[in-house]
Amino acid sequence: MRVAIAGAGLAGLSCAKYLSDAGHTPIVLEARDVLGGKVAAWQDEEGDWYETGLHIFFGAYRNMRRLFAELGIEDRLQWKSHSMIFNCRDKPGTYSRFDFPDIPAPLNGVAAILGNNDMLTWPEKISFGLGLVPAMLRGQGYVEACDRYSWTEWLRLHNIPERVNDEVFIAMAKALNFIDPDEISSTVVLTALNRFLQESDGSKMAFLDGNPPQRLCQPIVDHITARGGTVELEAPLRQIELADDGRVSGFRIGGIKGQPGRTVTADAYVSALPVDPLKLLLPEAWKQLPYFEKLEGLNGVPVINIHLWFDRKLTEIDHLLFSRSPLLSVYADMSNTCREYEDPDRSMLELVFAPAKDWIGRSDDAIVAATLEELERLFPQHFGGDNPAQLRKAIVVKTPLSVYKTVPGCQALRPDQTSPIPNFFLAGDYTMQRYLASMEGAVLSGRLCAEAIAAALDGGALLTTPRTEGATIPVAADATGLAPV
Ligand SMILES: Cc1cc2nc3c(=O)[nH]c(=O)nc-3n(C[C@H](O)[C@H](O)[C@H](O)COP(=O)(O)OP(=O)(O)OC[C@H]3O[C@@H](n4cnc5c(N)ncnc54)[C@H](O)[C@@H]3O)c2cc1C
Repeated sequence: MRVAIAGAGLAGLSCAKYLSDAGHTPIVLEARDVLGGKVAAWQDEEGDWYETGLHIFFGAYRNMRRLFAELGIEDRLQWKSHSMIFNCRDKPGTYSRFDFPDIPAPLNGVAAILGNNDMLTWPEKISFGLGLVPAMLRGQGYVEACDRYSWTEWLRLHNIPERVNDEVFIAMAKALNFIDPDEISSTVVLTALNRFLQESDGSKMAFLDGNPPQRLCQPIVDHITARGGTVELEAPLRQIELADDGRVSGFRIGGIKGQPGRTVTADAYVSALPVDPLKLLLPEAWKQLPYFEKLEGLNGVPVINIHLWFDRKLTEIDHLLFSRSPLLSVYADMSNTCREYEDPDRSMLELVFAPAKDWIGRSDDAIVAATLEELERLFPQHFGGDNPAQLRKAIVVKTPLSVYKTVPGCQALRPDQTSPIPNFFLAGDYTMQRYLASMEGAVLSGRLCAEAIAAALDGGALLTTPRTEGATIPVAADATGLAPV
């Protein structure tokens, strides 16, 4: 069976990978000249890489880890010590750590929280711990029901002091969805906390050992093409063409760089586009269908990723850092954390600037100047005195519409991978799967989409050529796709 997939982000590539494993022929059509979507990266004229986003892989990412294992590239994940490290606001230049000992969950999480006395007082730890009991006991059902509250509202409902937000959760909300706790749905924070507290290695973090297009996306493409599939760059979907019976009859692909436009036909069609461009491409006839209508409520959130190359080392820390500063979210010294970007003498800080709504329209120079002001507070020892650290080079990457903004009420708007159109399916981090807007969510959505296509084929919904004998797509352990690694 031929399946046309628009979008070569992790969702589209994962969908194609699992379809090709099952003996089908995916044709991936990507608008840009680079693989990876939100994990895309480029090289500047000096050969330095810059990325759409600073990306962290968590131990809880079972589907992503399974993909790495299936591709034989697990050694490309550089696992860090099991800790969360925050900049101290009151003592600039110092850090506060949550260290998870090597004991089973949730004891390791409890020990990490109890062991940190810089950020939360004992009464705050106790009231927060009690607040989490329903989430731990009642599981995902409770977590989903909390989608009507923002995280700040959830804290208030549980009489947890506002200071807990200031100390920990402003940083965490910004890291999870690039917005503040007043805006983020409590489902998002509770989902992350649940994974972290219920899985011994859930909060363990890894960095990829190099640029994502070559180190992660290319092996997926090689896997797909070795099984007869194709992945085309600079092949933008311009129109979803419909047959008289309402099914999709083709993907109209735009001609760029002097190439003529063309229609790609297949037995099934997948949008692995982000939700914002998909909404612009929906055929008029589909817009009234509730399944597509509710997509109107899902909207990308702006974020900015900044790369700063310095003339010296600012830190030796080989880990993600939570800045806890007003303009910045998480950051890392990539010269320590990532093998390909390694430099023993000079730092390259990659920083996520969020919330970015007031900054996305501003000049790169203004953004870099504001970031440097914050860094002067975080690293006073390097920016004061007679010989302050010098910035050698800066690159700013703006994403005005990144992952969907996870405000309260969004869970009910997220579509299943199976659409009401029999031969049209969705993949993407915004589609329904339990991992929210993340790389893990994208990879899982792609696999769930491949399974949905296989199920439609078996159920006769796809009028097509017979499937390759004996080819099956492994079915996930439960409806959320949480299968063991
Ligand atoms: C700054 C930043 C930091 C992040 N940090 C993390 C992190 O630490 N951990 C984590 O798990 N996640 C993180 N994420 C989120 C993660 O990157 C995304 O959730 C995930 O990559 C989304 O994958 P996707 O395939 O669903 O969408 P995308 O990656 O957006 O892929 C969609 C693809 O569709 C293509 N496309 C668009 N229009 C068309 C068209 N008309 N025709 C054909 N193709 C088209 C796009 O070019 C793109 O390649 C971060 C994101 C950002 C922006």
